[in-house]
Amino acid sequence: MKKLLPTCTAGSLPKPSWLAEPEKLWSPWRLEGEGLVEGKEDALRLALKEQEHAGIDIISDGEQTRQHFVTTFIEHLSGVDFEKRETVRIRDRYDASVPTVVSAVARTKPVFVEDAKFLRQLTKQPIKWALPGPMTMIDTLYDNHYKSREKLAWEFAKILNQEAKELEAAGVDIIQFDEPAFNVFFDEVNDWGIATLERAIEGLKCETAVHICYGYGIKANTDWKKTLGSEWRQYEESFPKLQQSKIDIVSLECQNSHVPMDLIELIRGKKVMVGAIDVATNNVETPEEVASTLRKALQFVDAENLYPATNCGMAPLPRHVARGKMHALSAGAEIIRKELAGK
Ligand SMILES: [Zn+2]
Repeated sequence: MKKLLPTCTAGSLPKPSWLAEPEKLWSPWRLEGEGLVEGKEDALRLALKEQEHAGIDIISDGEQTRQHFVTTFIEHLSGVDFEKRETVRIRDRYDASVPTVVSAVARTKPVFVEDAKFLRQLTKQPIKWALPGPMTMIDTLYDNHYKSREKLAWEFAKILNQEAKELEAAGVDIIQFDEPAFNVFFDEVNDWGIATLERAIEGLKCETAVHICYGYGIKANTDWKKTLGSEWRQYEESFPKLQQSKIDIVSLECQNSHVPMDLIELIRGKKVMVGAIDVATNNVETPEEVASTLRKALQFVDAENLYPATNCGMAPLPRHVARGKMHALSAGAEIIRKELAGK
């Protein structure tokens, strides 16, 4: 990345109301058949334009073609029965009805590769594509086949690697794995979480990122955050191992969170996507608030490794709020660029 402090979103953006019911996770599509295919493409075009207009440097698809960041990927795999549903506790936090793994899982066809090619031909800006991480995938399923979280995670890592290689070939510059589960299952992160993530990026030449957050601004997450106390030290568990790993970029939550900034020191040397936009509130940050967060982060990350970003995805927010937040992110980053240039 040549530009200093290149901005990006963590991933998802709100969908237009003609495509899916707004301000809702797992929102069902409002179109079908050919209309849905065209609608998703149009939504991708809009997501691109809105990011460009806001001055975002690294473009994402805004996850316009998926209903949910984990389940849509799993829907494309064989071995998972979506009719057979079980209720499980996701990230030890909330119950959800999820599909069942009934036989060996496999990727019989590409999942997002056509979408990535479509976005690639629309822009010359660097593009970033998010995939769920292996540990977060197994946590969103009921496993009646492998009966081992670790075994299933390794299978998913292989599958993710196949998809990632094709996304890279389609021209994706940064492939990001979303691992909010890294903030919950610390023993597993150390035992096999990082190892399976490294299996997912094996052989990739493009940049790779891991996004670890405290989740969307939904009630189950905000309630959980209230139980975490005044200092959120969850990153302390995964960062030392990530610092040693082959992952290029770590994406984390900083704005309005109780994460002590100095934990960033634990991943010194990595590129850091610093969340400077809170996705759990409709209040749009001022550019100065964004700049203030970035300034604090700069004590622990070198400027050339700092990527200003959002705390998490913005899918559940009203569209005008998400737009406002992207503009604030760009303007806040510009304040710091000028400060650094003046030094
Ligand atoms: Zn997130």
